[in-house]
Amino acid sequence: MSRVRFAPSPTGSLHLGSLRVAIVNYLFAKKEQASLVLRIEDTDQLRSTDQSTRIILENLRWMGIDFNEGPFFQSQRLSSHQAYAKDLLRKKQAYCCFCSQQEENDLSGQKDPCRLLSPEQTEMYLSQQRPYVIRLRIPDQTIEFKDLIKGKVSFQGNLLEDFVILRSDGTPTYNFAVVADDHEMGITHIIRGEDHLSNTPKQIALYQAFGWSIPTFAHIPLILGPDRTKLSKRHCDTAIEDYQQKGFLAATLFNYLALLGYSHDPAHPILSKGALIRDFSWEKVSRSPSQFDLQRLIWMNKQYLDQLSDQEYLHSAVPWIPKLPFDQDKIAKIVLLSRNQVRIWSEIPAVFSLFLTYPATPIFESNPCRDNLIAGSFLQYIKERLSGCDFTVGVIQCAMEEAITQFALKKRDAMQWLRIAIAGTSISPSLYETVCLLGKEETLRRIGLFMEQGL
Ligand SMILES: [Zn+2]
Repeated sequence: MSRVRFAPSPTGSLHLGSLRVAIVNYLFAKKEQASLVLRIEDTDQLRSTDQSTRIILENLRWMGIDFNEGPFFQSQRLSSHQAYAKDLLRKKQAYCCFCSQQEENDLSGQKDPCRLLSPEQTEMYLSQQRPYVIRLRIPDQTIEFKDLIKGKVSFQGNLLEDFVILRSDGTPTYNFAVVADDHEMGITHIIRGEDHLSNTPKQIALYQAFGWSIPTFAHIPLILGPDRTKLSKRHCDTAIEDYQQKGFLAATLFNYLALLGYSHDPAHPILSKGALIRDFSWEKVSRSPSQFDLQRLIWMNKQYLDQLSDQEYLHSAVPWIPKLPFDQDKIAKIVLLSRNQVRIWSEIPAVFSLFLTYPATPIFESNPCRDNLIAGSFLQYIKERLSGCDFTVGVIQCAMEEAITQFALKKRDAMQWLRIAIAGTSISPSLYETVCLLGKEETLRRIGLFMEQGL
């Protein structure tokens, strides 16, 4: 059975690029019925924090990426790493290096002299308690592997130096810990970002030194910003919690990142998790980097919001609704009336502003009704007509139709005049519903204000 792992370092927030790697691992695991393991690579003690671990776990939970095993913590596996390093020493695949940092610097590409130390010399230095590191003995051979995305990749072995696997304080280096853990956890497919490609020859050299079977690798191309450099905070938010806080749906982010750099039918970009799993294939993963497009993500979120029933929409919108002096029924009506204006949940508070305050005078500057006597008479008529009737959408519409006939207006002009009079701008949700929700008193007050100040 195949086994894959997602192995984030808890040294900050989960980055969009890392989430994409997690998603590809997830899709592959579900498609192949493989086990998905979560391993927290917290060996960098200076930079790893518990808070970062908590955020990463929360982000993954929010995204609905569930794991079959884990989280395992790399920092808790120190004794196992040390045992593996000793194993390599015994097999003469690794050696103790007693060089100082200065001596290392002076080597300038030459082989490390400690490679040639006899067992007796090594024993003697150890008994003198000289500080040492353990280095892997790398053979002069080409290291080749077949990447599921990039195809055949090869590295000249003689270009790799005998890298350190265990530091003088007994802690493992990154590549060593990763290989020891991946082997022990039975990982068959290593799916990760292309930024790890330079680690792969070192890791393969380790598998060979141990005599372990080498897993299959898949290196996913990076996500770029609009200027074709690696996506970073310079371009936009990169942390998952930022997208959560802005009111993107987890489903949108999953769908968008799953299809980023993945060949699919552009006419059908909205795919459920199930459809994405069924469709997953390595042939469709692009070999070249893909560009992040925030506007596309926002557009996609709107498509997801449009799929919700009114009831689902209202329910999900609740946490985003500010405290307001309106009753629940009116709030619900405003939220539903403004559905079209909202692309991400954080845009919800703005839809209430129309109902809370009447815009200040600047909007009158661009008033198309200015100097228009007909507009004035029309609004006066509407004001009087509405003041004496029940305030329902049907009645408001009826009053408008009468006025349009009486003043021989174009419907579009009349609608626009009333809209500017009550909303202060030429953009509003559906006009009659908006007027109705504003209520009679407020509508008449606004028309009055507009006629005094705006005309
Ligand atoms: Zn040395």
